[in-house]
Amino acid sequence: MHTLEPSLLTIAYLVAAVLFILSLRGLSSQETASFGNVMGMCGMAIAVGATLSNSHLSAYGITIGAIVIGGAIGIFLAARVAMTAMPELVALLHSFVGLAAVLVGVAAHLSGHGGTVASIEIFVDIAIGAITLTGSIIAFFKLKGSLSGNPLLLPGRHALNLAAVVATVVLGVLFVKAGQSDTALVYLGLMIAITGVLGMHLVLAIGGADMPVVVSMLNSYSGWTASAAGFMLGNDLLIITGALVGSSGAILSYIMCRAMNRSIINVIFGGFGAKPASKTQAASGDEEQRPVDEIDIEGTVDALLHAKNVIVVPGYGMAVGRAQHAVREMTELIEGRGGRVRFAIHPVAGRLPGHMNVLLAEAKVPYPIVLEMDEINEDFPETDVVLVIGANDIVNPGAQTDESSPIWGMPVLEVWNSKLVVVMKRGRATGYAGVDNPLFYHDATKMLFGDALASVTEIVTGLRAEAKAAA
Ligand code: NDP
Repeated sequence: MHTLEPSLLTIAYLVAAVLFILSLRGLSSQETASFGNVMGMCGMAIAVGATLSNSHLSAYGITIGAIVIGGAIGIFLAARVAMTAMPELVALLHSFVGLAAVLVGVAAHLSGHGGTVASIEIFVDIAIGAITLTGSIIAFFKLKGSLSGNPLLLPGRHALNLAAVVATVVLGVLFVKAGQSDTALVYLGLMIAITGVLGMHLVLAIGGADMPVVVSMLNSYSGWTASAAGFMLGNDLLIITGALVGSSGAILSYIMCRAMNRSIINVIFGGFGAKPASKTQAASGDEEQRPVDEIDIEGTVDALLHAKNVIVVPGYGMAVGRAQHAVREMTELIEGRGGRVRFAIHPVAGRLPGHMNVLLAEAKVPYPIVLEMDEINEDFPETDVVLVIGANDIVNPGAQTDESSPIWGMPVLEVWNSKLVVVMKRGRATGYAGVDNPLFYHDATKMLFGDALASVTEIVTGLRAEAKAAA
């Protein structure tokens, strides 16, 4: 195979890095997101092509075989994954980055990358990789629902974390001193075990509604892992790309923490959702018996026919029901008879940062009517009808009124200030944070029970019939 001169390789890596930066720039807004994706793909194609043409590479068979098999698995998974399972997939992919870092680090050590600096790089790479690996696996099971969303609060958990960090540093010093001897491998093994447990513990301790920040923190860790691997392998592109992912993940975590009124330090070290749920918050059987006002499809259609201002609040249930296309049709029908429809997007709605924006963009809901929480939260008092479609935690007034709630202090969409709130969900189940929602018993609220897609489709049919009759 034709090999690239080192200077050409550097230029190719530089071009790829610039394309990755342009990709991030493009992804920062919905209108330019496709452009951002294309830039990212071009950057990655150049990076892979240049790496394959590197004169140091000799094992073409294994490398190309790995790319083909890995690529095939990736295409298969991406084509099959439901939008609602995307967060789990992302968490799993982060764990692969961690696993790769651990394996590459161990391989680098075994192949005799010597010297103090190289040993430190290997050690740091493997430590961050192991934390990312096990933390992401726990996040995967929590998002999948196989592990409870409640925080695991071991007694003295901060001391345990600190002890793990101190032990890792001590092992690091011993590892560097041990050079290529067999004991170095023992230190490495012990460190992988300790940082692996630390990664699990850090994520297990996070509960309530704070998982979104954890997912973006793990994204950030995976970037720093790649960057550390770049230093270890002397690969500039990996350093730059890792730093881009690491810092953008860290910035996103910070933005999400601010949006949720959380301190990032507290989220990292866990404990939210630790307090016992109060009577109003507990999703107990008693709460299930509290009477709620119900509304049927006809009543909802009637309210929408008379509404001048409508706000739709989509949540995880809209994603589960795959109701976004029907929601867009409903929007067009309301607008067709002169009503104004806008969408209110909470920063942690759904199970993935930007989850609702992606679904609404897929259904071709125009961007200008899709507003962030801060842009629309004050408009509820002038709103005639709010349709809460499969959302729960993000419209829970308990976040403002119940100090013992796991979501206490999280800003929420104040839908109850509007004239009528129609809450569309299948039953009275709680949301991700597992707390009861006083909104259901509010004077302004009426419950429309049923699957989101079925309910919205029936509303569309009703609105269409009215539009025909009026024509
Ligand atoms: P929630 O999880 O609070 O509530 C979703 C509601 O949708 C449930 O109460 C459920 O009730 C209803 N639902 C489920 N399926 C359907 C369906 N087919 N049709 C109609 N309703 C349905 O979602 P929110 O979007 O309000 O809040 C997101 C939560 O997830 C927050 O707590 C957030 O912190 C957390 N989270 C967010 C992440 C992110 O990055 N955005 C990542 C991880 C967690 P019922 O079963 O009765 O129908």
